[in-house]
Amino acid sequence: MPLLASERRALKRKRLLYAGIGLAIVSGSALGVGLLLLRGGADEFEDDSVLFDVDAEASYGADEEEGGEGSPTPGGAEIIAFEEVVTDEAEHDGVIRTTFGNARSFRQAILNAGISTGEAIELEQALDGVLDFRRCRPADRIEFSRDAQGRLAHFEYHASPVEFIRATRNEDGTLKAQKMERVIERQRIAVGGTIRTSLGDAVEAAGFGRGIVGIFVEVFSGRADFQRDTRDGDTFRIILDEERLEGQLRGYGRAYALEYNGRRTGVLRAFLRSADSESEYYTEDGEPLSGSVLAVPCRYDVISSHFNPRRVHPILKRPMPHNGVDFAAPTGTPVVAAADGRVTWAGPKGPNGNLVSIRHPNGYETHYAHLHTIDRRIKPGVEVRKRQRIGQVGSTGRSTGPHLHFGVKHHGRFVDPIKVLNMPGPKLRGKQLSDYQAYMRPLKRQLEAISVGR
Ligand SMILES: [Zn+2]
Repeated sequence: MPLLASERRALKRKRLLYAGIGLAIVSGSALGVGLLLLRGGADEFEDDSVLFDVDAEASYGADEEEGGEGSPTPGGAEIIAFEEVVTDEAEHDGVIRTTFGNARSFRQAILNAGISTGEAIELEQALDGVLDFRRCRPADRIEFSRDAQGRLAHFEYHASPVEFIRATRNEDGTLKAQKMERVIERQRIAVGGTIRTSLGDAVEAAGFGRGIVGIFVEVFSGRADFQRDTRDGDTFRIILDEERLEGQLRGYGRAYALEYNGRRTGVLRAFLRSADSESEYYTEDGEPLSGSVLAVPCRYDVISSHFNPRRVHPILKRPMPHNGVDFAAPTGTPVVAAADGRVTWAGPKGPNGNLVSIRHPNGYETHYAHLHTIDRRIKPGVEVRKRQRIGQVGSTGRSTGPHLHFGVKHHGRFVDPIKVLNMPGPKLRGKQLSDYQAYMRPLKRQLEAISVGR
């Protein structure tokens, strides 16, 4: 895959950095992995606009209505991921930055930001058809700047980490707006180090984000306590995906192999089960590791419909993916957050009925549809803890019986919730074990090759 000059430069800088601190980058050509450029673009958002639930028809067979009130707008970009919330208006380099905040409309938000009424009208015309004004959210970011004559020269609206809208003034003096797409660079890296004080400090000393600590905690939960059990001289190694947006570290994606070698913990190793696994980790011998990413969100009677991205509607004969799993449970059954995170949506949303969406660390998002009620505290921007109650099972929206539709996204893609739920599988045997070991062995060699800088 050809690299852009800027990416080559970035890579080169990075290699130098790693060499300097005794870390290995798992280079593409040599070890069969490498730089992946994943485009997070319009397709993904269209996928979102058909949304979390179009399930009731097939699973219950009664409701054949297509579309209906509150259906997603065709082509309308669904924004269900927030960037970091910037709350205060700030000016830097002549650029004014603020958020949509509590404004009741786009107009009010930009007036609050300091744009004049005349400019607001001009801007709305330029953005018409590019920005869906009805989908603005409090955490959306606004930035603009003026030219030497004090004229609005540049305006940006950021509602998603992967795309934003930019309006600039043309030579003819008119404002022109367009959707800008950002490319997430995903690169597999190898990190290792020696603990002096804590795992977090060691990760930082190696030049990486503390987010890596969370991966260790999660994968080895129940086997080690990285607060208590770390000792001077312990070592760690990890192979994982690093994600960058425009050169800035965005976070960490999947981890493929981890090792912690400690005085108190002994040697702990975990490997991803397969190339398409999201978060199933096993020991070298095929023992499952507990401590999954997500908890089951409600006590249910039966799974009434499974995840099926390729489902074809039985009557309409068109693709209608079932982007989640349906847990049948009585109305009023408590629904809890599957993991720690931040609420990004809480309220009615078309066919989903009352919907809560939560964004979690490590690239996960969860969606809870058809809720009977949403707890009063649950509002966009609020932090929730794993297993905290968020609402009650119901049958609101396009649904023919009480159930929780539970959708899970990992790095913007719907994944099978069952695969990531707290259901540790049995020890791998037979062909499962040999498939796993075939996948694991090269990772193990790469893991062992990482310098810990002692
Ligand atoms: Zn469903």
